[in-house]
Amino acid sequence: MNNDIEISIRSPNAYALAGEALRLMQEHGVWPTPLNYELWLYVVGEPECALAQEIHRLIAAGETITEDVSESLATKFIARMKLNDEVRDAGLKLTRELASITEVISDAQKTQRSYSETLQSARDSMAGVDISALQKLVDSLSEATTTVLDHHASLENRLSDSSREVNRLRKHLDQVRMEAMTDALTNLANRKSFDEALDGHCEHDDVSTPLSLAVIDIDHFKRFNDTWGHQTGDQVLRYVASVLARIGRPPRMAARYGGEEFGLLFPGETSAQVERLLNEARQEIASRVLKRRSTNEDLGTVTISVGVAQRQYGEDSFDLLDRADKALYHSKNAGRNRVTLAEALESNSNAA
Ligand code: GH3
Ligand code: MG
Ligand code: MG
Repeated sequence: MNNDIEISIRSPNAYALAGEALRLMQEHGVWPTPLNYELWLYVVGEPECALAQEIHRLIAAGETITEDVSESLATKFIARMKLNDEVRDAGLKLTRELASITEVISDAQKTQRSYSETLQSARDSMAGVDISALQKLVDSLSEATTTVLDHHASLENRLSDSSREVNRLRKHLDQVRMEAMTDALTNLANRKSFDEALDGHCEHDDVSTPLSLAVIDIDHFKRFNDTWGHQTGDQVLRYVASVLARIGRPPRMAARYGGEEFGLLFPGETSAQVERLLNEARQEIASRVLKRRSTNEDLGTVTISVGVAQRQYGEDSFDLLDRADKALYHSKNAGRNRVTLAEALESNSNAA
């Protein structure tokens, strides 16, 4: 939960906020589950935030807020808000650490300045002095030197503490950045990183390096979920993801595109080459009899449908995805559990 809502639910206004959230949930026929309650706190507590706006949009469009809808809203918005908070906190800590380093350096400059002033005044008082005065002078110089050395030692400690802290924060930021690009359920890249990679590939107009894109959708997954429950459905998602991760190793890329859909990128490969690989993965998935982990119960099999398209010269990511989607749609309509090449579809329609 983000800070503003956290503060609001401990403020004098808290019960009014909670009451309003529950009233709205009842008005829209939404069950008062803990997750829904959290979502509705945003609706009443931060009506301008993206999550609240999306809920308003869904309600205005007459959509029912089912548990699936709530979960996907939470995954999409709340996880991102938490992440944003973490990135902001890590950024603040880094700024603080850098400010403390700057302070340490300016302290060091001050000590150096006062040391050189001491030396300067010693030099001035050297002219025509007797031995005992000289002795005093040496004593004061040696004292000043010790002070500078002590100061340097503590400076070194503070700097090494700071650099340890900066390293720790940098690692934490890397971790947060990594999490922001990864799908938590399957550990594959998420849609955001897939879209970025795809856009990156589509920026070049290099015809000598082909690029193929596959979109993959689990067949009748809703039926599977309805029969065996969401948690068992999640295990199947992880299983399918593990097969796709194996064929999607770099320079290829495998991602969970959303729900039970996946995307694969094959830089440097034509769709005809990719078709063979994906057919092998499809057959492997279809031939495995799945078991429920907890009870070893037989769950039957799942199949996948696939659409593949090879990027044409100058084609942008939107059009490439659209052609791969059409090929996937064809796989579904032709009976599922198959791979369709966009180019094969297009040459058929041109010939017709
Ligand atoms: P089709 O063969 O036409 O693709 O049918 P389908 O049932 O797979 O497609 P549909 O789009 O009707 O349903 C997709 C289902 O995927 C609905 C939703 O419950 C399920 N789903 C989406 N995300 C998740 C998830 O993270 N975990 C689980 N267990 N199920 C999910
Ligand atoms: Mg789907
Ligand atoms: Mg499906």
